[in-house]
Amino acid sequence: MRYRVAIIGAGIVGTSIARVLSRYENLDIHVIEKNPDVGWGVSKANTGLIHGGYDDDPDKYPLRAKLCIRGNEIWHRWVKELEIPHVWNGALVVALRDEDIKELEVLRRRGERNGVEGLRIISRKELLDMEPLLTPDAKAALFVPNAGQLSPVPAVIALAENSVSNGVKFHLATEVRKIGVKNGAVRWLETNRGRIDADIIINASGLYADSISRMLGIGYFTITPRKGEYLIFDEGIPAPSRILFPTPTPKSKGVVVTKEIGGHLMIGPNAQDLDRKDKENFATTLEGLKEVRDKAKKLWPRIPENGVIRSFAGLRPEPTGGDFIIRSEELWGFLNVAGIRSPGLTSAPAIAYHVRDLLIHELDVKLVEKKKWNPYRKDILRISRMSKNQASSLIGKRPQYGRIVCRCNLVTEGEVMEAIERMRYIGVPQPSIDSVKFRTKATGGTCQGSFCRPKIAWLLAREYEVPLWKVTLKGEGSELGIGDIKVLLRGDGK
Ligand SMILES: Cc1cc2nc3c(=O)[nH]c(=O)nc-3n(C[C@H](O)[C@H](O)[C@H](O)COP(=O)(O)OP(=O)(O)OC[C@H]3O[C@@H](n4cnc5c(N)ncnc54)[C@H](O)[C@@H]3O)c2cc1C
Repeated sequence: MRYRVAIIGAGIVGTSIARVLSRYENLDIHVIEKNPDVGWGVSKANTGLIHGGYDDDPDKYPLRAKLCIRGNEIWHRWVKELEIPHVWNGALVVALRDEDIKELEVLRRRGERNGVEGLRIISRKELLDMEPLLTPDAKAALFVPNAGQLSPVPAVIALAENSVSNGVKFHLATEVRKIGVKNGAVRWLETNRGRIDADIIINASGLYADSISRMLGIGYFTITPRKGEYLIFDEGIPAPSRILFPTPTPKSKGVVVTKEIGGHLMIGPNAQDLDRKDKENFATTLEGLKEVRDKAKKLWPRIPENGVIRSFAGLRPEPTGGDFIIRSEELWGFLNVAGIRSPGLTSAPAIAYHVRDLLIHELDVKLVEKKKWNPYRKDILRISRMSKNQASSLIGKRPQYGRIVCRCNLVTEGEVMEAIERMRYIGVPQPSIDSVKFRTKATGGTCQGSFCRPKIAWLLAREYEVPLWKVTLKGEGSELGIGDIKVLLRGDGK
């Protein structure tokens, strides 16, 4: 039997589910996303860590504890298959007071119970040998060798591209507004772009999972935004080689000090609960950033007063009860994959297999594997990673790769053009600078786009055949211009 599956939300969770389900012959998979590109929800602004799996208490949060370690293991394979920028650099949970050392023991035992291998408490001396610029106040640390980092939005893009190559259809800039039910089962979605039929609906809509669930009268949980703010520093400012955590609090894993995947020192996040309805409040605050800086300094005293190139904030989707909510609801065909707060990025691949198992065991769907399924996806060509010989041979064949667009991150016109091709491949309907940024790293360096943004806008306008002013920074409402201002001079309204 064939099933039409609609996944609401193209974040790391929705796209992981799409990839895993794309392996089956008898599923037609549709991903519905209200933003014009993938990965622009919670998955866009986070720390990007692939956690080790020691932090989640299996008695309190059994799904988080189980899926984090499993997700960590799967990511080791997926980053290679999908060529996702990543690093497996390990983490150190640092005790700053003698009494914190007991907490490290608790974490080590919990990690071992969760199945994490290689956890080890290391002495002050070994710690300072590993990270000589760490605060001399450090007493000891838990070493977590399996932890790592990846770029979250490029990961979502990679999953989306791979899913499309395996037959998944993305509906971007498409907002789910209602869900249709008939004879005790879900039947269709109503969106701003019309109706999409579905036998199975998977709610992976991040911060809005409670609203989507309530469309069907299922209201046993709420999602509350918990804000976390960050600072990223300029090149050349020393950063640790491993991920540094303080000992955690019940509310959060604490302010992290790390070198983000682009090579810059990054500190954050703090944790501030917002009002339940305040789900679009991504503003950074003076107090929040000060808190981040003060806390990070306790681990890494060499945080400079200047040299910040970017600040940003993300919102954790905190669910009632604290654990992930992943279940098939009584209404046939409706699955909630809700409250996917941290470690959701880490857990996403395991969540996807868990959802597949719910289809098999709870919905009794007989899945038929495809004879041919493509596990691979290639990253775009990047001049910055090539040797001089490779680069000049490529430029000889394709001169666009010789025209530099972003000086800070050495991104060429050829790369921007490939990014635009790939945006079209998954169906990005409108040109935006951020879509290019997440695919190429252009605008992400020291000058944050002052030099390259106009050039990228011009290429987007040409390729999408829209006037230059209609190119957006990040979707509708962020257009670069205000329109044809010459109309005012002409006075003819044309
Ligand atoms: C500050 C912070 C730090 C974090 N750090 C880490 C970390 O280091 N490691 C880790 O493992 N996890 C971390 N997390 C958690 C991780 O980021 C999330 O668990 C994960 O990104 C959630 O992904 P998602 O796909 O469920 O949600 P999202 O990425 O939000 O995807 C849901 C999508 O649904 C779409 N949507 C919503 N409503 C509708 C609708 N009506 N119609 C159509 N589409 C809709 C949204 O636009 C969105 O794109 C962190 C989170 C935060 C906020």
